[in-house]
Amino acid sequence: MQSSVRAVVLEKPGVLRLQRFERPRLESGAMLVRITMSGICGTDKHGYKGQAVQYAGTQREVFGPYPAVPGHENLGVIEELAEPRTDFYGLPLRVGDRVLVSPDIVCGECFLCRHSFGYSWCDRIRSYGHLSSDVWPHLLGGWADLMYVLPGSHVYRVPDEISDDIAVLAEPMAVTYSLDLAKSWAALPRQGFSAGDTVVVFGVGPLGIFHLIKARLMGAGTLVAVDVSPYRLELARALGADVTLDPRQLPGPELVTAVRDLTHGLGADVVVECVGIPSVIRDGIEMLRQGGTFVEVGNFVDSGELSLSPHRHFVAKNIRLLGMTNLAYTGFIPSITLLHRHRHELPLARVITHRFPLERAEEALVTSMEPESMKVVIAP
Ligand SMILES: [Zn+2]
Ligand SMILES: [Zn+2]
Repeated sequence: MQSSVRAVVLEKPGVLRLQRFERPRLESGAMLVRITMSGICGTDKHGYKGQAVQYAGTQREVFGPYPAVPGHENLGVIEELAEPRTDFYGLPLRVGDRVLVSPDIVCGECFLCRHSFGYSWCDRIRSYGHLSSDVWPHLLGGWADLMYVLPGSHVYRVPDEISDDIAVLAEPMAVTYSLDLAKSWAALPRQGFSAGDTVVVFGVGPLGIFHLIKARLMGAGTLVAVDVSPYRLELARALGADVTLDPRQLPGPELVTAVRDLTHGLGADVVVECVGIPSVIRDGIEMLRQGGTFVEVGNFVDSGELSLSPHRHFVAKNIRLLGMTNLAYTGFIPSITLLHRHRHELPLARVITHRFPLERAEEALVTSMEPESMKVVIAP
Protein backbone atom coordinates (compact mmCIF):
# COMPACT_ATOMS: atom_id res chain seq x y z
CA MET A 1 0.00 0.00 0.00
CA GLN A 2 1.34 3.43 -0.96
CA SER A 3 1.94 5.45 2.18
CA SER A 4 2.29 8.85 0.56
CA VAL A 5 -0.28 10.48 -1.65
CA ARG A 6 0.38 13.22 -4.18
CA ALA A 7 -1.94 16.22 -4.21
CA VAL A 8 -1.86 19.62 -5.85
CA VAL A 9 -2.22 22.41 -3.31
CA LEU A 10 -3.34 25.94 -4.10
CA GLU A 11 -1.18 27.55 -1.43
CA LYS A 12 -2.31 31.10 -2.13
CA PRO A 13 -3.60 32.95 -5.18
CA GLY A 14 -1.32 32.17 -8.12
CA VAL A 15 0.72 29.50 -6.30
CA LEU A 16 0.06 25.82 -7.02
CA ARG A 17 2.43 23.14 -5.76
CA LEU A 18 2.48 19.36 -5.87
CA GLN A 19 2.80 18.08 -2.31
CA ARG A 20 2.87 14.71 -0.60
CA PHE A 21 0.60 13.75 2.25
CA GLU A 22 0.38 10.69 4.40
CA ARG A 23 -2.32 8.26 3.37
CA PRO A 24 -5.07 8.95 5.93
CA ARG A 25 -6.65 6.24 8.05
CA LEU A 26 -10.39 6.12 7.62
CA GLU A 27 -12.81 7.28 10.28
CA SER A 28 -16.20 5.58 10.42
CA GLY A 29 -18.37 6.43 7.41
CA ALA A 30 -15.46 7.63 5.26
CA MET A 31 -13.86 6.24 2.12
CA LEU A 32 -10.87 6.81 -0.10
CA VAL A 33 -11.43 7.30 -3.81
CA ARG A 34 -8.67 6.97 -6.39
CA ILE A 35 -9.31 9.88 -8.74
CA THR A 36 -9.78 9.07 -12.41
CA MET A 37 -10.58 12.60 -13.51
CA SER A 38 -11.33 15.91 -11.84
CA GLY A 39 -12.74 18.72 -13.94
CA ILE A 40 -11.51 22.28 -13.71
CA CYS A 41 -14.37 24.63 -12.89
CA GLY A 42 -14.76 28.40 -13.11
CA THR A 43 -14.51 28.49 -9.32
CA ASP A 44 -11.00 27.02 -9.52
CA LYS A 45 -9.96 29.70 -12.02
CA HIS A 46 -11.35 32.40 -9.73
CA GLY A 47 -9.62 30.87 -6.70
CA TYR A 48 -6.31 30.89 -8.55
CA LYS A 49 -6.82 34.58 -9.27
CA GLY A 50 -7.72 35.31 -5.64
CA GLN A 51 -11.44 35.86 -6.32
CA ALA A 52 -12.54 33.51 -3.60
CA VAL A 53 -15.61 34.93 -1.88
CA GLN A 54 -18.54 32.55 -2.26
CA TYR A 55 -22.10 32.77 -0.97
CA ALA A 56 -21.53 36.45 -0.15
CA GLY A 57 -24.14 37.98 2.10
CA THR A 58 -25.47 34.63 3.36
CA GLN A 59 -24.75 32.82 6.59
CA ARG A 60 -22.39 30.54 4.75
CA GLU A 61 -20.19 33.27 3.21
CA VAL A 62 -16.66 31.93 2.82
CA PHE A 63 -13.34 33.09 1.50
CA GLY A 64 -11.06 30.50 -0.06
CA PRO A 65 -9.61 28.97 1.99
CA TYR A 66 -5.91 28.78 1.17
CA PRO A 67 -4.18 26.37 1.19
CA ALA A 68 -6.55 23.78 -0.27
CA VAL A 69 -6.48 20.88 -2.68
CA PRO A 70 -8.73 22.07 -5.55
CA GLY A 71 -11.10 19.85 -7.48
CA HIS A 72 -14.80 19.28 -6.88
CA GLU A 73 -15.93 17.65 -10.16
CA ASN A 74 -14.71 14.26 -9.12
CA LEU A 75 -14.88 10.85 -10.72
CA GLY A 76 -12.92 7.96 -9.28
CA VAL A 77 -12.78 4.38 -8.10
CA ILE A 78 -13.32 3.32 -4.51
CA GLU A 79 -9.95 2.40 -3.05
CA GLU A 80 -10.96 1.76 0.54
CA LEU A 81 -14.17 1.77 2.57
CA ALA A 82 -14.34 2.20 6.33
CA GLU A 83 -17.28 -0.19 6.45
CA PRO A 84 -20.00 -1.42 4.08
CA ARG A 85 -22.21 1.42 2.92
CA THR A 86 -24.58 2.38 0.13
CA ASP A 87 -24.65 5.17 -2.41
CA PHE A 88 -27.17 8.02 -2.78
CA TYR A 89 -29.71 5.59 -4.27
CA GLY A 90 -29.16 2.83 -1.71
CA LEU A 91 -26.98 0.73 -4.02
CA PRO A 92 -24.25 -1.20 -2.22
CA LEU A 93 -20.76 0.22 -2.68
CA ARG A 94 -17.69 -1.96 -2.99
CA VAL A 95 -13.98 -1.41 -3.44
CA GLY A 96 -13.37 -1.00 -7.17
CA ASP A 97 -16.72 0.66 -7.94
CA ARG A 98 -16.68 3.75 -10.14
CA VAL A 99 -18.22 6.65 -8.27
CA LEU A 100 -19.01 10.34 -8.49
CA VAL A 101 -18.76 12.40 -5.32
CA SER A 102 -20.99 15.44 -4.87
CA PRO A 103 -18.81 18.44 -4.02
CA ASP A 104 -21.09 19.52 -1.22
CA ILE A 105 -21.61 18.02 2.18
CA VAL A 106 -24.79 19.35 3.74
CA CYS A 107 -25.83 19.04 7.37
CA GLY A 108 -29.41 17.93 6.74
CA GLU A 109 -30.53 19.78 9.85
CA CYS A 110 -30.47 23.52 9.21
CA PHE A 111 -33.50 25.46 7.98
CA LEU A 112 -32.30 25.42 4.37
CA CYS A 113 -31.59 21.68 4.36
CA ARG A 114 -35.01 20.96 5.83
CA HIS A 115 -36.85 23.17 3.37
CA SER A 116 -34.96 22.55 0.16
CA PHE A 117 -34.21 18.84 -0.12
CA GLY A 118 -31.91 18.10 -3.01
CA TYR A 119 -30.23 21.50 -3.07
CA SER A 120 -26.86 22.37 -1.62
CA TRP A 121 -28.11 25.46 0.19
CA CYS A 122 -26.95 24.42 3.65
CA ASP A 123 -25.87 27.04 6.18
CA ARG A 124 -23.06 24.72 7.25
CA ILE A 125 -22.03 23.61 3.77
CA ARG A 126 -18.60 22.08 3.29
CA SER A 127 -17.32 21.66 -0.25
CA TYR A 128 -14.48 19.57 -1.63
CA GLY A 129 -11.83 21.70 -3.24
CA HIS A 130 -12.58 24.43 -0.71
CA LEU A 131 -11.45 22.87 2.56
CA SER A 132 -8.12 23.58 4.19
CA SER A 133 -5.34 21.15 3.36
CA ASP A 134 -3.55 22.21 6.55
CA VAL A 135 -5.82 20.09 8.71
CA TRP A 136 -6.39 16.35 8.72
CA PRO A 137 -7.29 14.51 6.49
CA HIS A 138 -5.78 17.06 4.05
CA LEU A 139 -6.91 15.27 0.88
CA LEU A 140 -10.25 17.03 0.42
CA GLY A 141 -10.08 17.84 -3.27
CA GLY A 142 -9.86 15.89 -6.49
CA TRP A 143 -6.52 17.14 -7.81
CA ALA A 144 -4.81 14.27 -6.07
CA ASP A 145 -4.11 10.58 -6.43
CA LEU A 146 -6.59 9.85 -3.66
CA MET A 147 -9.44 11.88 -2.21
CA TYR A 148 -10.72 11.39 1.30
CA VAL A 149 -14.52 11.20 1.19
CA LEU A 150 -15.94 12.47 4.47
CA PRO A 151 -18.84 10.81 6.28
CA GLY A 152 -22.13 12.30 5.11
CA SER A 153 -20.95 12.87 1.52
CA HIS A 154 -23.29 12.05 -1.35
CA VAL A 155 -21.68 9.34 -3.46
CA TYR A 156 -23.18 7.96 -6.68
CA ARG A 157 -22.26 4.65 -8.29
CA VAL A 158 -21.77 5.24 -12.02
CA PRO A 159 -23.87 2.92 -14.22
CA ASP A 160 -21.59 0.50 -16.10
CA GLU A 161 -22.72 1.61 -19.55
CA ILE A 162 -21.75 5.26 -19.01
CA SER A 163 -18.21 6.16 -20.05
CA ASP A 164 -15.73 7.99 -17.82
CA ASP A 165 -15.73 10.92 -20.25
CA ILE A 166 -19.46 11.39 -19.83
CA ALA A 167 -19.51 10.61 -16.10
CA VAL A 168 -16.98 13.33 -15.29
CA LEU A 169 -19.43 15.89 -16.74
CA ALA A 170 -22.06 15.12 -14.09
CA GLU A 171 -21.34 18.01 -11.75
CA PRO A 172 -21.30 20.89 -14.26
CA MET A 173 -24.30 19.35 -16.03
CA ALA A 174 -26.16 19.16 -12.72
CA VAL A 175 -25.67 22.92 -12.37
CA THR A 176 -28.11 23.40 -15.25
CA TYR A 177 -31.07 22.58 -13.01
CA SER A 178 -32.03 26.25 -13.24
CA LEU A 179 -33.45 25.40 -16.67
CA ASP A 180 -35.57 22.67 -15.07
CA LEU A 181 -36.83 25.29 -12.64
CA ALA A 182 -37.53 27.72 -15.50
CA LYS A 183 -39.47 24.93 -17.21
CA SER A 184 -41.64 24.46 -14.15
CA TRP A 185 -42.70 28.11 -14.39
CA ALA A 186 -44.11 27.38 -17.83
CA ALA A 187 -47.23 26.04 -16.13
CA LEU A 188 -48.25 29.72 -16.20
CA PRO A 189 -48.94 31.26 -19.63
CA ARG A 190 -45.81 32.68 -21.32
CA GLN A 191 -43.66 32.31 -18.23
CA GLY A 192 -40.43 30.43 -17.82
CA PHE A 193 -39.08 28.08 -20.47
CA SER A 194 -41.39 26.27 -22.89
CA ALA A 195 -40.65 23.90 -25.77
CA GLY A 196 -39.85 25.89 -28.89
CA ASP A 197 -38.62 28.95 -26.99
CA THR A 198 -35.70 31.12 -28.02
CA VAL A 199 -32.89 30.67 -25.52
CA VAL A 200 -29.76 32.82 -25.44
CA VAL A 201 -26.72 31.45 -23.66
CA PHE A 202 -24.47 34.39 -22.88
CA GLY A 203 -20.95 32.99 -22.61
CA VAL A 204 -20.26 29.48 -23.93
CA GLY A 205 -17.29 28.40 -21.88
CA PRO A 206 -17.86 25.10 -20.06
CA LEU A 207 -20.72 26.39 -17.90
CA GLY A 208 -22.47 27.91 -20.89
CA ILE A 209 -21.90 24.87 -23.09
CA PHE A 210 -23.69 22.64 -20.57
CA HIS A 211 -26.61 25.05 -20.41
CA LEU A 212 -26.71 25.10 -24.21
CA ILE A 213 -26.80 21.29 -24.34
CA LYS A 214 -29.46 21.15 -21.64
CA ALA A 215 -31.61 23.80 -23.36
CA ARG A 216 -31.39 21.85 -26.59
CA LEU A 217 -32.31 18.55 -24.95
CA MET A 218 -35.19 20.25 -23.10
CA GLY A 219 -36.73 21.49 -26.32
CA ALA A 220 -35.41 24.96 -27.10
CA GLY A 221 -36.58 26.26 -30.48
CA THR A 222 -33.90 28.72 -31.51
CA LEU A 223 -30.66 28.49 -29.57
CA VAL A 224 -28.35 31.49 -29.58
CA ALA A 225 -24.76 31.42 -28.29
CA VAL A 226 -22.90 34.63 -27.44
CA ASP A 227 -19.15 34.65 -26.90
CA VAL A 228 -15.97 36.47 -27.92
CA SER A 229 -14.15 33.22 -28.75
CA PRO A 230 -14.69 31.99 -32.35
CA TYR A 231 -13.45 28.58 -31.18
CA ARG A 232 -16.13 28.31 -28.52
CA LEU A 233 -18.81 29.62 -30.86
CA GLU A 234 -17.92 26.94 -33.40
CA LEU A 235 -18.20 24.24 -30.75
CA ALA A 236 -21.51 25.75 -29.61
CA ARG A 237 -22.75 25.45 -33.17
CA ALA A 238 -21.66 21.80 -33.33
CA LEU A 239 -23.57 21.16 -30.10
CA GLY A 240 -26.77 22.76 -31.29
CA ALA A 241 -26.57 26.57 -31.43
CA ASP A 242 -28.52 27.87 -34.43
CA VAL A 243 -27.08 31.38 -34.23
CA THR A 244 -23.74 32.51 -32.84
CA LEU A 245 -23.02 36.13 -31.99
CA ASP A 246 -19.68 37.74 -31.19
CA PRO A 247 -20.18 40.92 -29.11
CA ARG A 248 -16.91 42.34 -30.45
CA GLN A 249 -18.49 42.50 -33.90
CA LEU A 250 -21.75 43.90 -32.51
CA PRO A 251 -20.77 46.96 -30.46
CA GLY A 252 -23.10 49.03 -28.32
CA PRO A 253 -26.79 48.17 -28.74
CA GLU A 254 -26.17 46.00 -31.84
CA LEU A 255 -25.97 42.75 -29.86
CA VAL A 256 -29.37 43.36 -28.29
CA THR A 257 -30.77 44.37 -31.68
CA ALA A 258 -29.43 41.18 -33.26
CA VAL A 259 -31.34 39.05 -30.73
CA ARG A 260 -34.50 41.12 -31.15
CA ASP A 261 -34.24 40.73 -34.92
CA LEU A 262 -34.26 36.95 -34.50
CA THR A 263 -37.52 37.14 -32.59
CA HIS A 264 -39.58 39.58 -34.68
CA GLY A 265 -38.62 42.36 -32.31
CA LEU A 266 -40.01 40.58 -29.25
CA GLY A 267 -36.80 39.51 -27.51
CA ALA A 268 -35.63 36.13 -26.23
CA ASP A 269 -37.79 33.99 -23.97
CA VAL A 270 -34.86 32.93 -21.80
CA VAL A 271 -31.37 34.36 -21.33
CA VAL A 272 -28.80 32.38 -19.35
CA GLU A 273 -25.82 34.42 -18.13
CA CYS A 274 -22.68 32.26 -17.99
CA VAL A 275 -19.95 34.88 -18.50
CA GLY A 276 -19.48 35.80 -14.88
CA ILE A 277 -18.87 39.48 -15.57
CA PRO A 278 -21.52 41.75 -14.03
CA SER A 279 -21.51 44.25 -16.90
CA VAL A 280 -23.00 41.79 -19.42
CA ILE A 281 -26.18 41.44 -17.35
CA ARG A 282 -27.65 44.71 -18.62
CA ASP A 283 -27.47 43.55 -22.26
CA GLY A 284 -28.80 40.16 -21.21
CA ILE A 285 -31.90 41.70 -19.65
CA GLU A 286 -32.34 44.14 -22.54
CA MET A 287 -32.55 41.26 -25.02
CA LEU A 288 -35.36 39.52 -23.08
CA ARG A 289 -38.95 39.69 -24.18
CA GLN A 290 -41.74 41.03 -21.98
CA GLY A 291 -42.12 38.54 -19.14
CA GLY A 292 -38.96 36.69 -20.16
CA THR A 293 -36.75 34.74 -17.77
CA PHE A 294 -33.21 35.74 -16.90
CA VAL A 295 -31.07 33.01 -15.38
CA GLU A 296 -28.04 34.33 -13.50
CA VAL A 297 -25.51 31.59 -12.89
CA GLY A 298 -22.19 33.00 -14.08
CA ASN A 299 -21.27 35.11 -11.06
CA PHE A 300 -20.66 32.21 -8.70
CA VAL A 301 -18.00 34.18 -6.87
CA ASP A 302 -18.44 37.79 -5.84
CA SER A 303 -17.15 39.64 -8.88
CA GLY A 304 -18.56 43.08 -8.18
CA GLU A 305 -21.64 45.16 -8.85
CA LEU A 306 -23.40 46.88 -11.70
CA SER A 307 -26.03 49.56 -11.96
CA LEU A 308 -29.45 48.77 -13.35
CA SER A 309 -32.71 50.67 -13.48
CA PRO A 310 -35.23 48.81 -11.33
CA HIS A 311 -38.00 50.25 -13.46
CA ARG A 312 -36.51 49.63 -16.88
CA HIS A 313 -34.81 46.30 -16.20
CA PHE A 314 -37.20 44.56 -13.82
CA VAL A 315 -40.60 46.14 -13.45
CA ALA A 316 -41.49 47.56 -16.87
CA LYS A 317 -40.68 44.27 -18.59
CA ASN A 318 -42.05 42.00 -15.87
CA ILE A 319 -38.94 39.86 -16.07
CA ARG A 320 -38.51 36.69 -14.05
CA LEU A 321 -35.08 36.57 -12.45
CA LEU A 322 -33.69 33.18 -11.46
CA GLY A 323 -30.51 33.55 -9.45
CA MET A 324 -28.76 30.37 -8.67
CA THR A 325 -25.79 29.05 -6.83
CA ASN A 326 -24.49 25.57 -6.94
CA LEU A 327 -26.42 22.52 -8.05
CA ALA A 328 -29.05 19.96 -7.22
CA TYR A 329 -27.34 16.96 -5.69
CA THR A 330 -30.25 14.88 -6.93
CA GLY A 331 -29.10 15.76 -10.46
CA PHE A 332 -25.89 13.77 -10.85
CA ILE A 333 -27.13 10.48 -12.29
CA PRO A 334 -30.04 12.04 -14.24
CA SER A 335 -27.55 14.43 -15.88
CA ILE A 336 -25.22 11.72 -17.14
CA THR A 337 -28.11 9.45 -18.09
CA LEU A 338 -29.40 12.28 -20.28
CA LEU A 339 -26.01 12.87 -21.89
CA HIS A 340 -25.46 9.13 -22.42
CA ARG A 341 -28.89 8.82 -24.03
CA HIS A 342 -27.99 11.51 -26.59
CA ARG A 343 -24.33 10.59 -27.07
CA HIS A 344 -24.79 9.71 -30.76
CA GLU A 345 -26.34 13.03 -31.76
CA LEU A 346 -24.08 15.30 -29.69
CA PRO A 347 -20.32 15.51 -30.32
CA LEU A 348 -19.63 15.18 -26.58
CA ALA A 349 -16.11 13.92 -27.25
CA ARG A 350 -15.26 17.51 -28.17
CA VAL A 351 -16.32 18.89 -24.79
CA ILE A 352 -13.24 17.66 -22.91
CA THR A 353 -10.49 19.42 -24.82
CA HIS A 354 -7.48 18.89 -22.57
CA ARG A 355 -6.25 16.36 -19.97
CA PHE A 356 -3.28 17.01 -17.70
CA PRO A 357 -1.51 14.92 -15.07
CA LEU A 358 -1.14 16.26 -11.53
CA GLU A 359 2.33 17.60 -12.07
CA ARG A 360 1.03 19.89 -14.84
CA ALA A 361 -1.90 21.33 -12.86
CA GLU A 362 -0.75 24.90 -13.30
CA GLU A 363 -0.57 24.50 -17.07
CA ALA A 364 -4.02 22.91 -16.91
CA LEU A 365 -5.45 25.92 -15.09
CA VAL A 366 -3.86 28.39 -17.48
CA THR A 367 -5.14 26.34 -20.43
CA SER A 368 -8.66 26.31 -19.00
CA MET A 369 -8.63 30.12 -19.10
CA GLU A 370 -7.67 30.21 -22.79
CA PRO A 371 -10.41 31.01 -25.28
CA GLU A 372 -9.41 27.91 -27.27
CA SER A 373 -10.32 25.39 -24.59
CA MET A 374 -13.51 23.91 -23.24
CA LYS A 375 -13.56 21.44 -20.35
CA VAL A 376 -10.08 20.82 -19.03
CA VAL A 377 -9.60 17.89 -16.66
CA ILE A 378 -6.90 16.74 -14.30
CA ALA A 379 -6.28 13.04 -14.80
CA PRO A 380 -3.82 12.02 -12.07
ZN1 LIG B 1 -17.87 23.37 -10.50
ZN1 LIG C 1 -27.77 22.32 6.42
